Amino acid sequence: MSEEQKEEKESLNLFLSTQTVIKEALDKLGYSNSVYELLKEPIRMLKVRIPIKMDDGSVKVFTGFRSQHNDAVGPAKGGVRFHPEVSEEEVKALSIWMSLKCGIADLPYGGGKGGIICDPREMSFGELERLSRGYVRAISQIVGPAKDIPAPDVYTNSQIMAWMMDEYSRLREFDSPGFITGKPLVLGGSQGRETATARGVTICVEEAAKAKGIDIQGARVIVQGFGNAGSYLAKFMKEAGALVVGISDAHGALYDPNGLDIDYLLERRDSFGTVTNLFKNIITNKELLEQECDILVPAAISNQITADNAHQIKASIVVEAANGPTTLEATKILTERGVLLVPDILASAGGVTVSYFEWVQNNQGYYWSEEEVAQKLQKVMVDSFKNIYQTSQGHQVDMRLAAYMVGIRKAAEASRFRGWV
Ligand code: NAD
Repeated sequence: MSEEQKEEKESLNLFLSTQTVIKEALDKLGYSNSVYELLKEPIRMLKVRIPIKMDDGSVKVFTGFRSQHNDAVGPAKGGVRFHPEVSEEEVKALSIWMSLKCGIADLPYGGGKGGIICDPREMSFGELERLSRGYVRAISQIVGPAKDIPAPDVYTNSQIMAWMMDEYSRLREFDSPGFITGKPLVLGGSQGRETATARGVTICVEEAAKAKGIDIQGARVIVQGFGNAGSYLAKFMKEAGALVVGISDAHGALYDPNGLDIDYLLERRDSFGTVTNLFKNIITNKELLEQECDILVPAAISNQITADNAHQIKASIVVEAANGPTTLEATKILTERGVLLVPDILASAGGVTVSYFEWVQNNQGYYWSEEEVAQKLQKVMVDSFKNIYQTSQGHQVDMRLAAYMVGIRKAAEASRFRGWV
């Protein structure tokens, strides 16, 4: 099987396993099959072709997508990724996940997601700007501050959000900061957006430790991935008094039972989140996951904890900062072994929560301090964790199914009240 076919198969599996858990969650909640029929697929999926003049004078036609899972609760919300492996199935599944995250954090949104098949690492600044603007022109009919609000995702950043916001504002002929989130501060971005995901994960780690009776002071933590999510998380864990004993990146992993020098690693990491290449005594990512620790946080890529290694995980708490790092089979094994698994759709909801704060600030034209943002985020994450933990205990289900139950209920209820099902 070629790499491309493998990616396609993984995206399809991601989509199908998402549908499986949604079905299970709706059944547990007692909804009829018509609710599942509505929510198992996005309500709207736009595929666009975007012709762009490249720097060498040629024209290249890019394929892009925008998926809106459900807009019964409110406008759709979700990032746009620029990546060679973007596929229709992946964008669809990720838009459903956004609905779940928004439901969990109790935000007034449905889920959305977008993507363009491209490799931004091989494109010039000018080509990226033309592609970003072309994408907005192509999807402009279905997006907007009260319809669908994009945000950054894999390989897109605040500069790309700024171009997209400018293009949308030109099309509509008025300044529209609420069209997109993740913007630079000077264009209406929010304080605290950059660290929001890691802050949300940190709050989940703290709440999970309380639930398990583990003192965070001195608790041994392993973080897989040292990018935006993983590196800030390692920093916040250290600040909270935990001992970060392991970290990793795409190159390899570092483990020291006495604790790693996180400040030094943060200083030396490059812009792609790589730092282990500076060391000789590295181990593999696979080995790292099986080392002694109390808390394990996969913050890199999907499918890292599977039926093959779930029995070897030593942590008593696993908090998923990455999207889909644990398979459904591994979730079952970990839960049976008494490991408390905090699922991705809860643990990484901090990013979309601060995106929501950014949109609210744009709509009111009044901006909050970093402390205010942090306080409001703390409340949302603690309430969300408690809600899911209690659902899990009350219904005797694992935390993933509990998170799907909490996440999907809002879209189901709103669709019912609107008379759609
Ligand atoms: P990033 O690109 O900043 O960093 C990724 C890190 O993972 C890097 O350290 C990289 O070296 C490492 N990595 C890449 N391939 C690897 C491999 N095969 N094995 C081990 N490590 C590998 O990405 P990020 O923004 O930190 O996101 C990490 C995960 O968190 C992703 O799954 C992402 O979808 C999820 N997430 C991030 C955010 C956010 O706001 N950053 C929000 C929600 C979910």
